[in-house]
Amino acid sequence: MQEIAIAVHGGAGTIDPSAMTAEKEATYKSALSLAVRRGHGVLAAGGSSLDAVEAAVRVLEDSPLFNAGRGSVFTAEGKHEMDAAVMRGSDLHAGAVAGVQNVRNPVRLARLVMEQSGHVLISGRGAFEFAYRHKLPLEDDAYFFDQLRHDQWEQVKGSTQVRLDHSTGEKKFGTVGAVALDMHGDLASATSTGGMTNKRWGRIGDSPVPGAGTYANNETCAISCTGNGEAFLRAVAAHDVHALMAYKGLSLQEAVRLVVHEKLPPLDGEGGLIAVDRQGRVVLDFNCTGMYRAKIDGGGEEVAIFR
Ligand code: ASP
Repeated sequence: MQEIAIAVHGGAGTIDPSAMTAEKEATYKSALSLAVRRGHGVLAAGGSSLDAVEAAVRVLEDSPLFNAGRGSVFTAEGKHEMDAAVMRGSDLHAGAVAGVQNVRNPVRLARLVMEQSGHVLISGRGAFEFAYRHKLPLEDDAYFFDQLRHDQWEQVKGSTQVRLDHSTGEKKFGTVGAVALDMHGDLASATSTGGMTNKRWGRIGDSPVPGAGTYANNETCAISCTGNGEAFLRAVAAHDVHALMAYKGLSLQEAVRLVVHEKLPPLDGEGGLIAVDRQGRVVLDFNCTGMYRAKIDGGGEEVAIFR
């Protein structure tokens, strides 16, 4: 039988180890562990990789610790506009939402877009209406309020400064994602984010764009990225990992290393990505001080933040 494997991330950036208390670290790690186990449970029961990544990401969206779903950052107008995507490696189907408000689980909505809309990417008001029509759980603005993220926003509010949720020292961290290989040999990925603090004009990052922040292809691998979205978009980062494997014959590890450490840095692409290939090999790599991450593969469970 095919080996199963899953990995999750909760964002990457300049995480200051001295600002991380043992208690805080334990809180983050237990949330990551819960998410990766939830996804692994789906895989172990014979479920699909798509079900597994959705289940894992929902756990992280429901946690206020991460910049996705409940913990999403504030836009320049003091709102929460979320982006999410899912992609299935067996047939290259993808679904995504951008700039959607008041939806409890944007990853669920992204999947519904893939399965029921006939489209790939739906934005803003239309995405909300689609969620409403399909009776997805909605939440009022208060559900998304978080004091720490509000303080983060207060520091840059009224300015043109746009901030990555990560790379802010003491502050909370990031975007979430998951990649998985199921026992049928199918790969899938999912990514969900509140984007960047103080973003304006309906800014959309890499996370909901297939090939940029999210990609899965049974020929090669499944990828979910986190970091400075503008750079990941310009690098078409997730698809580039796939292309290096498919066209150049690189291993997953080599392809990820090239993208994360050589292609992204000249574009100011601070961040990292998680990936799994069709043999169930997991690679978690980043070019900054830390990435919240966890995996369960043939080697067991691993949860880490720093290198
Ligand atoms: N990539 C996300 C974005 O630019 C942010 C992040 O990963 O923290 O929207």
